[in-house]
Formats: sequence, structure tokens, C-alpha cells
Amino acid sequence: MTALKSKFFKLNRLILFMALTATVITFINSLYSNYQVQKEQLILQAMEVNKAYAKKLSETTDVFLTASLQQLAYSAKKTSVKMNSREALKEEAERLKYQTDTFNSIVISDAKGIAQATSPETLDLVGKKLVSTGSLTILKDRKLSISDPYISSLKNLLLVISAPIFDDNKKYLGFLGGTIYLKKTNILSSILGEHYYENGSYIYVIDKNKQVLYHPSQSRIGAYVNNNTGIEEIVTKKEGGMLLTNSNGIEMLAGYAEVPSTGWVVITQSPLESTQLPLTGIMMKVITRTLPMAFAVFLFIWIFARAISRPLQQLTDKAKLIDSPEVSKDIEKIDAWYVESLGLKRAILSGMKLLHRQIGQLQHDAKTDPLTNTSNRRAFQLRLEKQALLETPFSIVALDVDHFKHVNDSYGHSVGDEVLKRLGLIMTQCTKGDDMIARTGGEEFAILLSNTPLDNAVIFAENLRLTISEELFKTVGHITVSIGIAAWPNGSVSIDETLSLADNALYEAKDLGRNRCVVTR
Ligand code: GH3
Ligand code: MG
Ligand code: MG
Repeated sequence: MTALKSKFFKLNRLILFMALTATVITFINSLYSNYQVQKEQLILQAMEVNKAYAKKLSETTDVFLTASLQQLAYSAKKTSVKMNSREALKEEAERLKYQTDTFNSIVISDAKGIAQATSPETLDLVGKKLVSTGSLTILKDRKLSISDPYISSLKNLLLVISAPIFDDNKKYLGFLGGTIYLKKTNILSSILGEHYYENGSYIYVIDKNKQVLYHPSQSRIGAYVNNNTGIEEIVTKKEGGMLLTNSNGIEMLAGYAEVPSTGWVVITQSPLESTQLPLTGIMMKVITRTLPMAFAVFLFIWIFARAISRPLQQLTDKAKLIDSPEVSKDIEKIDAWYVESLGLKRAILSGMKLLHRQIGQLQHDAKTDPLTNTSNRRAFQLRLEKQALLETPFSIVALDVDHFKHVNDSYGHSVGDEVLKRLGLIMTQCTKGDDMIARTGGEEFAILLSNTPLDNAVIFAENLRLTISEELFKTVGHITVSIGIAAWPNGSVSIDETLSLADNALYEAKDLGRNRCVVTR
């Protein structure tokens, strides 16, 4: 499992994964925050538009209402002297009705509430007592006013803008009322109705009691708004903007403003959904603009991370081949361009150097006699086998110090050691690079003379024997050696047998009185 894991988690893959994750997370995060900001922005914008629009419409409505009141007040003043002439009153009513489009109908009533004139005449109210709640309130209040909506005796939902009629002595003579039929085409619908949007936005007007005075859907006019989540705030604050759920359960962004003269509130609202429509387009733009950058960032991270990982990867690959002698050169070539990789490279290189040195030392130790620094028996044996394998002829010179026991006994073991060391040196001086000297026993040596025929080996041995016998050893003075010589190939004699033959010759030299060379032919 761990092996599987470590095989899967390659630096390259990890880097790719990291680059991808970083880019994707950044990309999604930027999209998400962009989306949120844009969404908020759109909502704010729509809210501001609705607020400004509601404000504008409420002002327009107010201007219209104030003008209407003034118009009626002026007319009421003029009418006070005509109260005895129904003809004159009728004329005034007609003028008010038809001179402007302000009113759906005009009623002039006396102080008792008996209609004196109407326009249009079809109302058929003249001479009759006005009994609707609106009329009664107007008669009672005797002031310039705009009534609450009510249902008239003729079953119209209407509101009345009225002005009291007083004579010069401030005696109340009646009133002059201009009606607006809320459910028919009226001045409010002219002011507000033309501002109907296609995207589901609409405008409506409520009075202080939350009763709808104007609404694009006629059936709502006259109804009371109560299952709209924002209505309480609207009637309390009277100006502002908010997100609400309308009576159809649709989320709406609403702006609202009060009509000062009446306390009505104009509300303009747009479906939240419609304000979000541009969002898809905006987001597509954001994506197309962000994507190349995200891709560039991904490429940058990836390339940079690869550059970071490359020396590590190369060092790892090369470190696996640590036993190959060439690998150090390859490691030298690796571009370790940042501090840590350089440190690692140096550590590996010096580790390898140390390792190779130690291996070399171990190999040397395994082949060498530590006292005389000549080869040991094992190395000598391997060399013989190699000579045989390559079929390279050679001679063997076997050498033993005469009466060495006596040296030890007389001068001590360490002096004996010094003699052995010195002997090693003398033999090294007498041989060529191709030859091999080995310490085969305590004070016994063997010398392999490569490509040397027996006769030459005899000359060499004799020479060596003389050199040794002439050497003045420290403390000890002169010593002698006995030597046996044999050569290979020699008929069917094997290399091991050749060694034995040289040994035998050596024993023979001892037997013959020492300090001499004996040859086995
Ligand atoms: P011969 O002429 O018959 O060879 O007499 P020898 O005394 O040399 O023969 P022998 O084989 O009886 O003695 C060899 C001696 O070499 C015995 C031992 O004390 C000594 N010797 C063997 N190895 C070492 C060594 O590493 N250092 C020293 N100092 N002496 C050694
Ligand atoms: Mg000896
Ligand atoms: Mg011996």
C-alpha cells in the first residue's frame, strides 16, 4: 500500500495537482465574488432606479393633486354667488369636467347635501340627496380635501377632491366635488399607467389605510394590501427601497415615496429575477476575460514548480545509480539553481565521494597485507586465476626468510615486523608494475612475474636474493632468504600445482642449506 502510494505520489503529479487546485480555487473564488458583487450591484441599481422613479411619480402626483385642489378652490369661490342658479352651476360643472381631463365627474352640492348640478348630467343625481359616506364626510368637514376611496351611490369606487363653498359671510353653502373613478380610466392611470415596464415591473399607489388606489391590474384597485412582506415598512417609513415578497409570492425590489399632500405612497417595483437577467451575460464576460489569465497563472505555476522540482527529480534519478562511477559527472552537470537543491547536490556528491573512497579503501584492505603493504594470499590467488584465464604466462618466485624465528627471539617481534616491512619495500623496488608481490605466510612471500619465462625468473630471483643478503637491516644486520622458482605454463601443470612446485623448490633450497635459489623445471 505504502509502495503503491509512493509510486502514485510523484512530484510531477503533485505539482500538477497543486497548480490545478490553486488555479481552479482562485478562478472559482473570483467568479463567485464577482457574481456576488455584480448581483449586489444590480440589486442596488434597480433599487435606486425604483426609488428615484417612485419619488418622481409621487412628486408628479402631488403637483397634480395640489393643482386640482387649487382649481376647485378657485372655482368654489366663484360658485358661491351662483348657488341660486342651477343653470350657472351646471355650466361651472361642465367647465370643470371638460376643460381638463382631471375629473371623471363633477358634483356641486348645497349645504344639505342635495346635488345642485353634475357633469355629466347622466349621473341623474340633481335634486337628490347625496348619501354616500364620502359626501357625508365632505359635508361634515367643510374643508378643502381629498377623500378616502369609497363606493358611491352609483356603485363606483371613487375618491372625491372637494372644495367647500362659503359666501362672503363665511356661511357654508355646500361643496364642489371632482370625482376620480378609480376603476375607470382616470387621471391617475394617465399619470402612472404609461410607465408600465415590460420586464414585470409595475407601479401602484396605496393610501394611508393600505388601500390600493391605482394598480395596473384593475381587480386589485380598492383592495387592501396585507400579504405583502414590505407593506408595514412602506407605510411607516414612507420613503425608501427594499426587497419584499409581493402578494403573489414573487420577490420584488421596491422603491417607494409618499405623496405629501395626501399621505399616499407610490410604489414602483421590479421582480428581483428580472434585475438579475443581465447577470448571466456579465458572468460570461467575466469568465471569458478571466479564463486566459487563469490559464496563464496555471501555466506559470506549473512551469515554475516544474523548474523547482527538476533538480530534485534529476538528483533522485541519479542517486539511484550511486554505485556507477560515471554518475558523479552526471550529478555535476545537474543545474541546481536554488539554495536547497544546490545543498542537496553538494551533499550527494560529497557523500558519493566519501562512499567511493571508503569502498576503494575497503577493496584495497581486502587485497592487502597491512604490515608489508603487499598483496595478501587471496589477492594473489585471484591474480593467478586471472593469469590463467587470460592465458598469460608467468613465473612464481616463493621466498622464505632464513631463521626468522631467531630474529624474533633475539630482537623482539616488533623488530621482526620492521624487517618484514623493509623486505616488502625491497621486493617492490625490484619488481615491475605488472608483477605482484604477496605475503603468503608469516615470513613467506610469493612474487608473480608476469610474462616472464623461467630463465629470466631465475635471474630475477638470484638478483633479489643477493640484494637482500647485502641489505643492512636496522638492529638486525644481515639476513638471508631461500627461494623456490616455478613457471606456468609447464605441460599440464595447473596454476595451483605451479605454486606448490615453487614451494617445493623453496623447501629444497632450505634443505640444501638456505640462502639460495632452487628451480623446478
Ligand atoms: P627457517 O629458516 O627454517 O625458515 O627458520 P625459521 O625460524 O624462519 O622458521 P619458522 O617457520 O620455524 O619460524 C617462522 C617464524 O616467523 C615464527 C614466527 O615467530 C615468525 N613470524 C611469523 N609471522 C611473523 C610476524 O608477522 N612478525 C614477526 N615478527 N614474526 C613472525
Ligand atoms: Mg623462515
Ligand atoms: Mg617459514
